[in-house]
Amino acid sequence: MHLSRYPRLHFAHLPTPLEPMMRLTDHLGGPRLWIKRDDCTGLSSGGNKTRKLEFLMADALSKKADTVITQGATQSNHARQTAAIAAKLGLQCHILLEDRTGYTDEAYGHNGNVLLDQLHGATLATLPGGTDMAAAMEDLAQKLKQDGRTPYIIPGGGSNPVGALGYVNAALELLVQANDRALVIDHLVHATGSSGTQAGLVAGLVGSRANIPVLGIGVRADRAKQEAMVFDLACRTADYLGLPDIIRREDVVANSDYVGEGYGVPSDSTREAVSMLAQLEGILLDPVYSGKGMAGLIDLIRKGHFDKDSDVVFLHTGGSVALFGYPGRLGVPATIAAGG
Ligand SMILES: *Cc1c(COP(=O)(O)O)cnc(C)c1O
Repeated sequence: MHLSRYPRLHFAHLPTPLEPMMRLTDHLGGPRLWIKRDDCTGLSSGGNKTRKLEFLMADALSKKADTVITQGATQSNHARQTAAIAAKLGLQCHILLEDRTGYTDEAYGHNGNVLLDQLHGATLATLPGGTDMAAAMEDLAQKLKQDGRTPYIIPGGGSNPVGALGYVNAALELLVQANDRALVIDHLVHATGSSGTQAGLVAGLVGSRANIPVLGIGVRADRAKQEAMVFDLACRTADYLGLPDIIRREDVVANSDYVGEGYGVPSDSTREAVSMLAQLEGILLDPVYSGKGMAGLIDLIRKGHFDKDSDVVFLHTGGSVALFGYPGRLGVPATIAAGG
């Protein structure tokens, strides 16, 4: 596996830190918990899409694109990071936002990631939940071509074999960090959505024969569908790396027990995880992805799923900007005591 053979731009702040979570470990009574800070990738407040965009944007530029098109939910972190790097590269950016929650409040529709998309100069359009977003992007690309532009379509979440290379690279980076401090990683846990993060991690870890199990905590699809998506993309990513047939079906494990009412709707366990990390570690999670991923990790620890004498790494995929799109849904009191 030699990633320098693939076109890549370098704008992420790498390597991201790997830090112990002492107070959370104490609070839960073990296992030893670590956090890989991919919320600190640097681009417009960071997140996991930045690593994917290093490879996707290099591909776009090699195809002489002057415009990028992508899609996501209203509070998409992927949309925000795409808008930011398009701005830096001087490309036009068109974003189609799917209303997956039906939330009508001002903060959800205009603050958080949406505010930043607009600050970065992206052109936004909203579409109803359930729209065929891939088809909508194709239609928009046709229109832009008629206007003389050269559009490049980035799939939702940047999840295709090109984007997943960002997480193959993250897997290699994590192995180096663990090796440097003689840390044996027993489990790697993170939130999984459009599947590129887990697919890239699995391809990178299996390709390195690291024997580290990855557990994706689902945020939308049921387990069967999520695992099928991740497995398919992991296989295609391995093919793209020139390592066909290395991924076994059992290398891909997801758990969708923490989705709650649906995508983008935080549950009580999400709120508990967000406040626990904020208050024990000073770390900001998010209400859509990392909050649910951490809720899954906390619950599985409480159920005894992990050996107490083991080391578990949580990959923090970012998303805290979305907190500002969910102010009334985080369980934080709306009023502050008047003092004096
Ligand atoms: C997109 C996203 C994920 C999920 O990553 P996928 O590659 O889409 O599975 C997790 N956390 C955050 C904060 C995200 O924005």
